Amino acid sequence: MGSAIYLDNNATTPIVPEVFAAMELWLRGGFGNPSSGYRLGRDAAKAIDSAREKTAALAGCHPDEWIFTSGGTESITTAFHSALALDSSKRHIVTSAVEHSAVLRICDHLEKFGHEITRLPVDALGRIDPEKLAASIRPDTALVSLLWANNETGGVWPLEKLIAIVQSTRAVLHIDAVQAFGKLPLRLEGLGVHFLSVSGHKLHAPKGVGALYINRRVPFTPLLRGTQENARRGGTQNVAGIVAFGKAAELASAHPFDSSLRDRLESTLLAKIPGTTVNGDRTHRLPNTTNLSFDGIESEAALLLLDERGLCCSAGSSCATGSAKPSHVLKAMGLSDAQAKSSLRLSLSRLTTSEEIDRACEILPAIIAKLRAASPADSPVLVS
Ligand code: PLP
Repeated sequence: MGSAIYLDNNATTPIVPEVFAAMELWLRGGFGNPSSGYRLGRDAAKAIDSAREKTAALAGCHPDEWIFTSGGTESITTAFHSALALDSSKRHIVTSAVEHSAVLRICDHLEKFGHEITRLPVDALGRIDPEKLAASIRPDTALVSLLWANNETGGVWPLEKLIAIVQSTRAVLHIDAVQAFGKLPLRLEGLGVHFLSVSGHKLHAPKGVGALYINRRVPFTPLLRGTQENARRGGTQNVAGIVAFGKAAELASAHPFDSSLRDRLESTLLAKIPGTTVNGDRTHRLPNTTNLSFDGIESEAALLLLDERGLCCSAGSSCATGSAKPSHVLKAMGLSDAQAKSSLRLSLSRLTTSEEIDRACEILPAIIAKLRAASPADSPVLVS
């Protein structure tokens, strides 16, 4: 990564050396298939068991209720598949307008096949209205799928309140905790969530490994059939990735997240750059994320100049990079196209240093000033 200042940790995080060291063994000598009966295989199976214990401990659930997948998207898709298989006569799904594309795209797909989708709106701070959630659940609602923390703004929803609402109905509840896992304390035991999805690469494990919490009280239908993961997820396990995820979970619980660097970055940028607005709920937010709109700039142009100066961040979700469309999250919060297209997401990790934040606080104001100087003040920010 050289001397780049990496402030795009909601897109993905670097693998830390301890995690790399833990997984390396299983890419070299420990290559056995965990389903094989001889020692090489049994060792791999034991390594998976140990990683299951560590990751389930971070989620506060029993390891039996925790299966490994290829990442957040597979976990989410599995939860949808299983919830919808419970009763084929129930064809209504409740979700929100600000979900990650992994949820939005399944909902769009299911809609084409006769499912009815309610996409709950959010207010100007990106908050869901619990009363609207309660009112949206019907006798034929098969599934409620909601984010815990938003990947673009970092906004955190009141998990216990939302759970209480869904618990009083017969709907299955899936929580997309991909961004929150490892950053917010979680104790799933007795919480009342049915499914919860997480991903390794958001907490310093490699891409391509994730997990799904499956509440033992919910009948489960696998998406990928096979014998592995107690017949709940077929396919030879990604042993090295799973071991890495276990190590990353262990490190995450040993290093609780602290918002001080994010807060310093945000307050310095607000003070140095007039016409800057924080998007979303600043009270209930992940400790690592800030999403800012800078009047009079276009974020895609800012990203190019920032990249030249060695600063990596993003305009909304990384999955939407290069898209001409403004962020669906910011639009749902009521921002205009121009405001939404003038926003940058800066997301830190526990590896981010104070020096990097100092440099970011020099580079960003200079780039915003340069962009503003290049566009006449009274011209529209963006012609779409
Ligand atoms: N859900 C949220 C909130 C995310 O931020 C992401 C990844 O950006 C995903 C789901 C998908 O996870 P993965 O990249 O592991 O498939």
